Amino acid sequence: MRMPRYEYRCRTCGDTFELSRPMAESAAPAACPAGHDDTVKLLSTVAVGGSASASAPAPSSGGGGGCCGGGCCG
Ligand SMILES: [Zn+2]
Repeated sequence: MRMPRYEYRCRTCGDTFELSRPMAESAAPAACPAGHDDTVKLLSTVAVGGSASASAPAPSSGGGGGCCGGGCCG
């Protein structure tokens, strides 16, 4: 199970930190590493996995010109 990472900024000490938490708790209060709880969630690009949808089409075998087989050669 992978959890997205969210970036927060502490308004007390000005530090930014990341937390890995479920999406349902992304808006929950998060204390900074120094213990302050006056933090805001930053809008950061969250990379969760990523869809590698590179399904290359199968090469047409038997042709040669790449035309026959599609119906264009009659
Ligand atoms: Zn802090």
